[in-house]
Amino acid sequence: MATLNENFLKLQSNYLFADIAKRVKAFKAQNPDAKVISLGIGDVTQPICDASLAAMHKAVDDLAQKQSFRGYGPEQGYDFLIEAIIKNDYEPRGVQLKTTEVFVSDGAKSDTGNIGDIFGTDNKIAVTDPVYPVYIDTNAMAGRTGINVGGLWTNIVYLPCTEENNFLPKLPHVPVDIVYLCYPNNPSGTVMKKTELKKWVDYAIANQVIIMYDAAYEAFIRDEEVAHSIYEIEGAKKVAIEFRSYSKTAGFTGVRCGYTVVPEELTVIAENGERVQLNKLWNRRQCTKFNGASYISQRGAEAIYTPEGKAQTRATIDYYLANAMYLKTELQKMGYTVYGGDNAPYLWVKTPNGMKSWDFFDLLLNKAHLVGTPGVGFGPSGEGYIRFTAFGEKENYIEAVSRLQQIEL
Ligand code: PLP
Repeated sequence: MATLNENFLKLQSNYLFADIAKRVKAFKAQNPDAKVISLGIGDVTQPICDASLAAMHKAVDDLAQKQSFRGYGPEQGYDFLIEAIIKNDYEPRGVQLKTTEVFVSDGAKSDTGNIGDIFGTDNKIAVTDPVYPVYIDTNAMAGRTGINVGGLWTNIVYLPCTEENNFLPKLPHVPVDIVYLCYPNNPSGTVMKKTELKKWVDYAIANQVIIMYDAAYEAFIRDEEVAHSIYEIEGAKKVAIEFRSYSKTAGFTGVRCGYTVVPEELTVIAENGERVQLNKLWNRRQCTKFNGASYISQRGAEAIYTPEGKAQTRATIDYYLANAMYLKTELQKMGYTVYGGDNAPYLWVKTPNGMKSWDFFDLLLNKAHLVGTPGVGFGPSGEGYIRFTAFGEKENYIEAVSRLQQIEL
C-alpha cells in the first residue's frame, strides 16, 4: 500500500490570494457597477520587448528547419545564454563565473523550491518575516519545518523585518544552517545595502551557513550602494547560491526562464568527512529531474542582453518604477507611511491608525474599490501593512490615487 509524504498534510492551505479573491467576488456581486482596481497584482502587465519577441519568433523558425532544429537541449542551459549571463549580469560588476556555475531553468520559483533536494532534512532554516511563502512551504514539504502552530512553524527561525529594524533582519540568535534572503524584497520592497549584506556573508562564512539569495527583482535596483549580486561581496561564493528570474525583468512570467548560480567554491562536509561541491549535486539533480528550459525562451532571454533588448527592458522597468514612485509620493502626501518602491516594484504601506491588515483591506475595497494584499498574509511581522504592487497600468494608479484621496483617515 502506498503511503503519503505526510509533510504535505502539515501544510496550511494558502488562503491569502483565495481569501482576497473571495472578498472581491462578494463585493462585486453586491456592487456590480463598481470598477475595482487591483493594486495587489503580482503579475506583469506590459508586453515582452521587441528584441526578445523577434528572437523568439526566429527561434520558432529555427525549429521549422532540419538544419536549425533543436530537440532536447543541455539540462544546464544553452551556452549562448549562459555566456550572455556571465558577460552582462556578472562581469561588469567584477564577478567572474565559469559557465559550469550557471544553471538556466524555467524560473526562480522552481529553483528556490527544488534546491532543497540537495540538502539534508535535518538542516535548520531561517527566513525573514514577512516572506515569499515558497521558501517555507517547500521546506515544510521536505519535513524541515516541524509542525505549524498558529501559523508559525516550530522548527523555523523567523527573522522579523520591521519598521524598528528598518526592515533589515538581525543575524540569527540561535544556530541555523540555511538562511533565505530576498533582495530587493518581496513583499516589503526594501533593499539591503552592500555594507549590510557583507555582515551576512561574513556571518555565513564564520558559521558555515548557506545563504539562499533570491535576486528575482535585481533589475529594479537603482541605488549604487545596493549589490545586484551577492557575489559582489567578498567571500560570497563560498557561502551563497543566487537565484535570478526573467519574469519581472523582461515580462517572462508566462514564457518561463530564469537561472541559478551555484559556485564551485561552495562546499558542504558530508557525513563521511568529505568536502562536497554543491555545484556537483545541483548538476546531478537538474540532469535527473529537469530537461532544460525551452530553446525558444532561452533565445528570448539571450536577446534581453543585446543593446536594444537592454534599452527596451529598462524602459518597461522604468515604467513600473514610475508607477511605484507616483503612488508612493501621493500616499505620503496623504499622510501614509510607505516603505519600498525605490528599487523594487512593491510598496509596503503602513495601515492608518494601527488598523489590522485585513481591516484596511476591507476598508479600501468598500470605500475606494481598491485591492491590496494584506501584509499579514506574508507572515506575522506583516500585520499592520498592506502591499501594493507597481505592475499595473499607469492610468489605474492615477484613478486609485484620486479615490484614496477621498478616504478620510
Ligand atoms: N522569488 C520571488 C521573491 C518572487 O516574488 C517570485 C515571483 O513572484 C519568484 C521568485 C518566482 O519567479 P519565477 O516567475 O521566475 O518563478
